Amino acid sequence: MSTVVAKFGGTSVANAAQIKKVAAIVRADERRRIVVVSAPGKRDRQDEKITDTLIACHALAARGRPFRDRFAPISDRFRELARQLGIGGDMDPWVDEVEDLIASGADQSAVVSRGEYLCAHMIARYLGFEFVDATEIIEFSDATTVDAAATDRRIAVRLNGNARYVIPGFYGGRTDGSVQLFTRGGSDISAALVARGIGAESYENWTDVSGLLSADPRIVDSPRPIAEVSYRRLREFAFLGAAVFHEEAVSPAASRSIPIVIRNTNAPDHPGTTIAAASESEPRITGVAGRDAIHLVSVERSGLGKDVEAAGAIGRAARDAGVALVHLGFGADSGTALVAATTTEALDAFLGAIPAAVGCDNVAPPEAVAMVGVVGENVARSAALMAAAVGALEAASIPVMGVTADYSPFSFFFVVPDERYAEATKALYGAAVSG
Ligand code: ASP
Repeated sequence: MSTVVAKFGGTSVANAAQIKKVAAIVRADERRRIVVVSAPGKRDRQDEKITDTLIACHALAARGRPFRDRFAPISDRFRELARQLGIGGDMDPWVDEVEDLIASGADQSAVVSRGEYLCAHMIARYLGFEFVDATEIIEFSDATTVDAAATDRRIAVRLNGNARYVIPGFYGGRTDGSVQLFTRGGSDISAALVARGIGAESYENWTDVSGLLSADPRIVDSPRPIAEVSYRRLREFAFLGAAVFHEEAVSPAASRSIPIVIRNTNAPDHPGTTIAAASESEPRITGVAGRDAIHLVSVERSGLGKDVEAAGAIGRAARDAGVALVHLGFGADSGTALVAATTTEALDAFLGAIPAAVGCDNVAPPEAVAMVGVVGENVARSAALMAAAVGALEAASIPVMGVTADYSPFSFFFVVPDERYAEATKALYGAAVSG
């Protein structure tokens, strides 16, 4: 029997009314036999995600401080949800178990994963599906790497082709059986791995928007929705900065040509966005995306462009400092790195490591920039499109500090001053998507 893996994000399971919508969606199609859930997210803007509350509880417990007051909202929230869903006191033992676990000094992965764990138990009860723990089926070989072959084998052994399951997202197991978390938003990856392991017909990713848009709606008014996009172009779109679903969730599904469909729990009749292998009906331009708060770091040293070790040395310096290296380019005697840093300490550590890494005397202070680019079929080989894009930036008097079009035929991007990011996004949208 064919199987659809349906993953529901934090807003889809935030309260009892949302969980009832989830149940209606699951029951509307009997192929939706495997449900993967996130931890309950925010119910309103003031609310806190269960995952964030757990991070706070673990931090307190790890310092030997009392955490029970901080844990109380989690306990209250699950007990109340269970009441509202008519599964009475069924959640009580699970909630108590989590409180004891935190008190016992369990590690961060073990504690922070419990939002998904409790949520999956609750939804399994409510739907009458079997709970399967993610530690049984997703195997990590180290803190950041999933053992794909071992995970496929575990799924084949543990999941039966006809039964119905609820699986917590966001974590798997280390080889010793202990819990290992993915990065934030990682339930998307969990569901992609399950979809691949089971050979699903499709992977539905249910969220609170009706699919992906061709630009950030906070910047561009009513951007065109994306009905279809190929795996490859979606990866470029996410790489440029589009806040789509977790980038690492694409490859497991793509490796077995499983379509990923992004859909809205609050508008279940909307077809959403289908991400699949390249198709004829995919529009030529996917959209415009970018990221602000990027640092442009310039380095000068005679012969740098011919030093085959330089790229690796800069990459290692970025990794060790904890900054994300977004792009690297070299000329005869110079190089530039675009990096994203979450803290000034990390950025300073990176800048401090550069002289030793590439053998230069000093590094100029970084410039605050943004990247903004276009994704679509062969866009980086289209002189006409590039001319239109440059023309639009020029018409808006936005200085171009760099342009890169050599890494993939599917996209190109400009480097512009950070404070011009929104204007540059609008200009490129006008030139490439709506123009
Ligand atoms: N609950 C986790 C987070 O908030 C993981 C997820 O929702 O995918 O990041």
